[in-house]
Amino acid sequence: MPIELLLLLLPVAAASGWLAAQRSMQQKATGRDEPKFDPVYLKGLNYLLNEEPDRAIDLFVTMLEIDSETVETHLALGNLFRRRGEVERAIRIHQNLIARPTLQPHQRTEALLELGVDYMRAGLFDRAENLFLELKTSSHYAARALTHLLSIYQDEKEWQKCLDVAQQLEVVNKRPYRQQIAHYYCELAEIALKQEDWREAGKLLEKGRSFDKTSVRTLLLQGRIESEQGEFKAAIKHYQQLSQLAPSYLSEVLSSLVYCYQQLGRQQAMVGFLQQHYQQHKDTAVMTAISNLIEEDQEAASAFVLAHLQDNPDLHGVERLISLNLESKGSLDGKTLQVLRDLVAKSLLGRPAYRCDECGFEATNLHWQCPSCHTWDGVKPVAALV
Ligand SMILES: [Zn+2]
Repeated sequence: MPIELLLLLLPVAAASGWLAAQRSMQQKATGRDEPKFDPVYLKGLNYLLNEEPDRAIDLFVTMLEIDSETVETHLALGNLFRRRGEVERAIRIHQNLIARPTLQPHQRTEALLELGVDYMRAGLFDRAENLFLELKTSSHYAARALTHLLSIYQDEKEWQKCLDVAQQLEVVNKRPYRQQIAHYYCELAEIALKQEDWREAGKLLEKGRSFDKTSVRTLLLQGRIESEQGEFKAAIKHYQQLSQLAPSYLSEVLSSLVYCYQQLGRQQAMVGFLQQHYQQHKDTAVMTAISNLIEEDQEAASAFVLAHLQDNPDLHGVERLISLNLESKGSLDGKTLQVLRDLVAKSLLGRPAYRCDECGFEATNLHWQCPSCHTWDGVKPVAALV
């Protein structure tokens, strides 16, 4: 029920009704009786008393005359409706505003921008897009129009258009959009990958990295392409570069990295690399990978996991240790261990494996762009599950 809104409108409408009454009284200039309220206002009150707040709101809104002084009020009202999810009302108010011939050019542009946002909210993306395309040429509003356009194109996964708009935004806002641009190239590369066009994908990734030298995603995709094509050495090189740039992302490529090393028969080098990474970052996924690789030597594997657990209270490690003991008939009773392991495994289920640095959004799979705050690279693998 839009009660708060009524509370906001009531005094405005009352003032407006009272002023109208005042004016008509002055015209009569006879000064009899006390000031009267506008009959439209009384009608609105009547709707209210009959518990028809929607009709009351519509009436009060039409009571507010549009002149240069109330344009701001109308804009604020429209935005308020939109924020409350009453998009149709917002659209009506903004359209009504635009139709006024007396509007100043900047007020008109402002109302058009707001109308575009209404359309976006209503899912009328084509209309919103057309409005913003028109507004992006106006010098004062170009940045806002382009920013809205970018968000439409991101939602619609129109990556080529995102690239164009981001480059225009760089000029208008005089700041780089390198990170986003690299991601747009990655999105295009992923499309090429789906079509198994490796060459095109490779080119797009190179392009992406030329904008953002620190792009983790381009390295990850490049490694994946190379591994797919049997270029294991090159893939390993890119995965290692990735692990230096952003150590927590190594978990994303771990299975592919292990596969590449195995294809080359370089078991020793692989364990060496993983051990070194583990020493530096105490990463859970790497700990698990190492313990898998040395599993045959059960004692060594157990000792390794146990040492990890002493410094890092890590449920994955607990599960791993129990598993290792279970397999080798260790000193703990098998049945107890199984119960324990299931318990731990259960508590691990549904835990977020990823979290956004910016807004705390939690996810079970990787998002390059945070679904909540839309930051690129905000969502990162959670290093350890405690
Ligand atoms: Zn976020």
